[in-house]
Amino acid sequence: MGKKVLVSGGAGFIGSHIVDRLIKRADLDTLVVVDNFWTGKRENLAHVTDPRLHLEIADIETFATDERFDEIIHLASPASPPWYMREPVRTIKANLMGALNCVDKLVPGGRISFASTSEVYGDPVISPQPESYRGQVDCTGPRSSYDESKRCTESLLFELRRTTGIDLRIVRLFNVYGPRTRPDDGRAISNFLSQALTNGELTIYGDGLQSRSWGYVDDIVDALERYFWADDIDYAGPLNVGNDREIPVIDVARFIADLIPGARLKMCPPIPQDPTNRRPDLTLCRRILPGWEAGINYEEGVRRTLEWFAEKVMKGASTDAPSPLRLAEEARARNNMASSA
Ligand code: UDP
Repeated sequence: MGKKVLVSGGAGFIGSHIVDRLIKRADLDTLVVVDNFWTGKRENLAHVTDPRLHLEIADIETFATDERFDEIIHLASPASPPWYMREPVRTIKANLMGALNCVDKLVPGGRISFASTSEVYGDPVISPQPESYRGQVDCTGPRSSYDESKRCTESLLFELRRTTGIDLRIVRLFNVYGPRTRPDDGRAISNFLSQALTNGELTIYGDGLQSRSWGYVDDIVDALERYFWADDIDYAGPLNVGNDREIPVIDVARFIADLIPGARLKMCPPIPQDPTNRRPDLTLCRRILPGWEAGINYEEGVRRTLEWFAEKVMKGASTDAPSPLRLAEEARARNNMASSA
């Protein structure tokens, strides 16, 4: 009997790349993608004609079915600060209640794989960050809906593993970029590319010296494929997955500005609680996934992403990302009102 697999968020940026890999599996019987097109898009799966794929347009936290699945990959959640800041409660529901509903849909002993995040490290005071680092997160801050719901979902899944024996795989993804990011996504690389191709002004929040480790999507999905569908790995996670070359935001912007004539940097006020640095310690990842490396260097990855964006933006996709500065201000005002009430 072939495997029944469900992917929540399978029409999203990373999810659709996972779907491309899953349909190459000969042992796959059915693949159900549950996506509400909040940040995902139907067009990300438009090229998939495999009859084993079934798309269900639904919220993962309330998705109902009598079917049970051998493997569930829970990805449904916005990952871009402006998107999760705009709808924080919905973000918490998608991650946490979505995970609960996924576990409910597993066959006994079935496997759930969860995409957690380097945001669980908050603004880290050690670098690189190993999985054992407990992080520095503000549980009521402007990023908390994302950071804390990922952290709590990790806790929930580990407790369910202890009490019910689910098979678990948790990854902590560092910044991922590449084709199929929404042009209006708002994260650094996609924003800089969209801006460079439209009004030419690349918005740098703060001094731009804050740094991230940027992983090209094909490399990251290679690691996910190796980890999520290997039966011989006896490690539930968490596992850092990313590219460990750390680059300041301003260098990324300058690199992109040099690639696109007319593009220039625009310095903007800093975003509240923007982490200053982020870099994965990949020691464990290299041990659990021998032979895997993030092989596509940043310069090549950005060029490939630019090609894809150039085609999208030319076709007139919207590039209006909401401003995280404004959203963080609004969240702060709400919090002030709540604490003075
Ligand atoms: N960033 C920026 N300009 C933008 C988008 C992002 O300067 O137009 C900065 C942002 O403040 C952060 C870094 O780039 O320091 C990475 O932001 P992103 O939203 O990509 O991811 P995250 O903050 O979740 O790591």
